[in-house]
Amino acid sequence: MSWPSACLRQHELLANHTSFRIGGPAEWFAEPSTLNELVELLRGAATRGLPVSVVGGGTNTLAADRGLRGLVVHLGRGFRTVQETGHRDESSATVYCGAALLTQRLVFLAARHGWGGLEILAGLPGQVGGAVVMNAQGIGQFVQRFTLVSLDGTVRQVTRDQLRFSYRYTAVDPGIITEVVMQFPKVSPAEAYERIRTTLQYRNTTQEVRLPSAGCAFKNPPGLGAGRLIDQAGLKGVRIGDAQVSRRHANFIVNLGRATCDDVLSLMEHIQRRVHHQFGVMLDPEVRLVGERFG
Ligand SMILES: Cc1cc2nc3c(=O)[nH]c(=O)nc-3n(C[C@H](O)[C@H](O)[C@H](O)COP(=O)(O)OP(=O)(O)OC[C@H]3O[C@@H](n4cnc5c(N)ncnc54)[C@H](O)[C@@H]3O)c2cc1C
Repeated sequence: MSWPSACLRQHELLANHTSFRIGGPAEWFAEPSTLNELVELLRGAATRGLPVSVVGGGTNTLAADRGLRGLVVHLGRGFRTVQETGHRDESSATVYCGAALLTQRLVFLAARHGWGGLEILAGLPGQVGGAVVMNAQGIGQFVQRFTLVSLDGTVRQVTRDQLRFSYRYTAVDPGIITEVVMQFPKVSPAEAYERIRTTLQYRNTTQEVRLPSAGCAFKNPPGLGAGRLIDQAGLKGVRIGDAQVSRRHANFIVNLGRATCDDVLSLMEHIQRRVHHQFGVMLDPEVRLVGERFG
């Protein structure tokens, strides 16, 4: 079977596609721009018995130092569309978004058009598809359905009643989300911009935004703050190689320059052990390790 070679590359460094700036080469890396191209790629990978991984904005992703075997899919330009349906309603808006649309672009378009509710995602890096998979900032509440291309290339619609969203998690069958349909309540653009301003102010004063990271390393345990536990365990500033527990926000691990995936994983294990020893709580990683490791 022939592959759509125009969108395929070999040995693409994943460090260039993750906010951590960490990750070795992908055996195959593809940026399909159409649904047909994506389907052909997935069929080709299945025929060749290659594992498939997906990287969106790569802002919640840790990629192995030795790289990934198989095919890494990163949706291209054709998946960055956004459109409100022609059928307008006074109280809500239905919007079709390509999964590779930057979440920030959607947040500001939403404010401009008065599609309410996304202001809490202001400043959130990454793409809409990744945000849906992570249920980032509760974006799942707006999702009506999405298009999912299964790993064998089958295209299907997944509707709201088939979805389960929980804290930083959406139950999604293996595959690639290509388009998301969302419904938002209408608000005044002035109100939306004001809420965005407040969110950005909060984010800039509390989060680590200057150094490469993947956001929060761990999920908050029920009723507790992971950052607070890590801070109280005296771990701020602790470092393994070039991976360091941020001095600003203890739940962020930052890359001081040459951190490796193994540095980050060792530091995460160290944090888990210390927090468990001190508070009896086992922290659950929020950051996702993508793909199969070589070796
Ligand atoms: C500075 C900083 C601040 C952050 N703040 C927050 C915050 O406040 N709240 C929060 O919830 N998160 C936060 N994050 C984490 C991250 O930005 C979000 O989870 C984001 O929505 C992930 O989107 P992404 O496109 O980068 O996903 P990726 O990291 O690319 O992928 C995440 C997961 O989704 C899968 N995936 C991605 N795209 C698709 C697709 N199209 N189809 C199927 N699977 C896909 C990947 O395989 C992976 O398992 C922060 C990160 C950083 C770096």
